Amino acid sequence: MKTYKIAVLGGDGIGPEVVEGAINIMEHVASKNNFSFEFNHYLAGGCAIDEKNDPMPQETIDGCKASDAVLLGAVGGEKWDTLPGKMRPESGLLRIRAELGLFANLRPAQLFKELADACPLKSELTEGGLDILVIRELTGGIYFGEKDRNETSGYDTLKYSDYEIRRIAKVAFETAMKRNKNVVSVDKANVLESSRVWREYVAEVAKEYPEVTQTNMYVDNAAMQLVRYPNQFDVIVTGNMFGDILSDEAAMITGSIGMLPSASLAEGKFGLYEPVHGSAPDIAGQGIANPIATIMSVAMMFRYSLDLPKQADEIESAVAKAVAQGARTKDIAVEGEKVLSTKEMTQCIIDNLEA
Ligand code: NAD
Repeated sequence: MKTYKIAVLGGDGIGPEVVEGAINIMEHVASKNNFSFEFNHYLAGGCAIDEKNDPMPQETIDGCKASDAVLLGAVGGEKWDTLPGKMRPESGLLRIRAELGLFANLRPAQLFKELADACPLKSELTEGGLDILVIRELTGGIYFGEKDRNETSGYDTLKYSDYEIRRIAKVAFETAMKRNKNVVSVDKANVLESSRVWREYVAEVAKEYPEVTQTNMYVDNAAMQLVRYPNQFDVIVTGNMFGDILSDEAAMITGSIGMLPSASLAEGKFGLYEPVHGSAPDIAGQGIANPIATIMSVAMMFRYSLDLPKQADEIESAVAKAVAQGARTKDIAVEGEKVLSTKEMTQCIIDNLEA
């Protein structure tokens, strides 16, 4: 029987609570199939600062490297907000992305039709739902380029090279082949030289995928189009900074931060999976966090790292059924609706997996 090794980084706040829900789902799916999981827990974020004086201890990084995939809850909280840059929980996240070579960040923005009221856009704009995948280059571009400052000025460098563009474009086209076969590459090629290079290599990779329709869009236009007519998008592929901004915009138009998963992939099958939301200190410890974003992240793990697409579909469909039956945690409930705890929501999804 195949055993998958999973590094679990619960982190801070609601991180461990939502991760527990996701692990219950994984164990349930494994019990119905011919595989099992070995979960190894490691410190990350504020709890690692408290115990090891380091937001991402080396043993955590080593443990992740020795695993098939990583499941992360969330890190951070007020207690650690005043620490200097490199000691903050968020700097641990940057470090682990770089150490694990996680160059491709996949963030689906999906709107469940039962939660359409949470969407801030007019309902006719999202008729039939919404299903966009933003693919952001995560280890290059302006966040990693040479930078410096003196008293009165500062600069950052935006540079992309052929191999960085080719590998993220390949992820976009491969993913689009499993979806609606449409890729929009977002850049600022009317102004930036790095964007003109980006376009050239995206076009080169596109030739290998004749079934996929590929177009280019300037980032300012893409920001407008996302709120004007979001359903025109299937897969968006873009650089680090543009992706940072557009993936948040795409997430916001679904209106439900507790529902949104993400995957950060390295070359090959390895990946780190985490909800888009943070550690939500305002509700931590109450057992009321929505576990769906983390459970949907597990579905992505099954699909991208573990080669278990059937089980990934089953998890997503169990979540959709639970939502359709009216299962609601506090963040997605409207007045008068019954509110479930984290554990009850997890159980409802397990019941639907059983059905
Ligand atoms: P947040 O996402 O933690 O919370 C924003 C709001 O959404 C809060 O009202 C919270 O209660 C609610 N919320 C978030 N997730 C929820 C869930 N699963 N169920 C129900 N409600 C949910 O964002 P924030 O308040 O800006 O940040 C809090 C801390 O998290 C900060 O320290 C921040 O740096 C950190 N953070 C970490 C990550 C990460 O680990 N990747 C990402 C974002 C923020």
